[in-house]
Amino acid sequence: MARSRRPSRAIRSLGATSTRGSSGILKTPGEIDAMAASGAVLARAHAAMARAVAVGVTTAELDAIAEQVIRDAGAEPAFLGYHGFPATICPSVNDEVVHAIPGDYALIDGDLISIDCGAVLDGWVSDAARTYVVGGGNAAAMQLSETTERALAAGIAAAQVGRHIGDIGHAVQRVVEAEGFSCVESLVGHGVGRSMHEPPNVPNLGVPGSGEQLVEGLVIAIEPMVNIGGPDVMLGPDGWTVTTKDGSLSAHWEHTVAITSRGPRILTSSQDGNS
Ligand code: MG
Ligand code: MG
Repeated sequence: MARSRRPSRAIRSLGATSTRGSSGILKTPGEIDAMAASGAVLARAHAAMARAVAVGVTTAELDAIAEQVIRDAGAEPAFLGYHGFPATICPSVNDEVVHAIPGDYALIDGDLISIDCGAVLDGWVSDAARTYVVGGGNAAAMQLSETTERALAAGIAAAQVGRHIGDIGHAVQRVVEAEGFSCVESLVGHGVGRSMHEPPNVPNLGVPGSGEQLVEGLVIAIEPMVNIGGPDVMLGPDGWTVTTKDGSLSAHWEHTVAITSRGPRILTSSQDGNS
């Protein structure tokens, strides 16, 4: 899930069991391993959904697949019940940016679907999103998704000890704007741990060297949300679904990433270090 720039209740209810760094709650190497176990369950849920995405499949069916994989692993869906969210995944189609609710909608050829999902294993949250283009005929959607995935990779590469939050946003922004696309500014990545949303915010735009310094043990969700058109978004009548204001397509890729002395460690990939 993405966090809005407005502070939420989640930010104010942080646990006090871990070290509190200047920019977030720091995790020990053992805690990072535990978060990677949560992330591995989540990666399996995403892989199962990737196999299922096809013309005619409903977003509710994708939700059921993800929930089954997560529960079979002894984990729990992180989004279900979060501030009242009613499902395991957020399947955001076409001009939907994030936080859409699964339902009877059946995918059609050319749809762009971003699936955000989270898992909780042994109390540790993992959070990741992937985007798919249904069928093969929508070149614009494919370019948007591929650019967003590359922007995520660039942001992860910048997540190094001693660098700054602004370096991550800058790296994401450069990739996105080189293609003429827009980063959503009002929704951001975030720290992750015992809670889904911890400090710090991780914006998808930034000035190099600005913001808090990245320290070993910080775990963050890096999650570019990228629009083909303008950057502005709006909240739909269901109180959850965020759409682009201009109706343009939007893509979303996300990984939970630990800052370590050996470089960024992706915790939500099927194999460590790979997306
Ligand atoms: Mg997130
Ligand atoms: Mg997410």
